Amino acid sequence: MSTYEFECRDCQERFDVIVVITEHAKLKEQPPVCPQCGKSDNRQLASLVNCKTASARF
Ligand SMILES: [Zn+2]
Repeated sequence: MSTYEFECRDCQERFDVIVVITEHAKLKEQPPVCPQCGKSDNRQLASLVNCKTASARF
């Protein structure tokens, strides 16, 4: 599973969405709903997972 951080365009609330990797494509078609205001008008912030993967080189 991966964690994606979103920021609501309406109320600037930031929230994490945990999705299975196979469900990732659905996020683009159907954005998650803001827990603060209930709207789905939000944008995805830099992926936390990708940052960790890039820095962890064994
Ligand atoms: Zn909101």
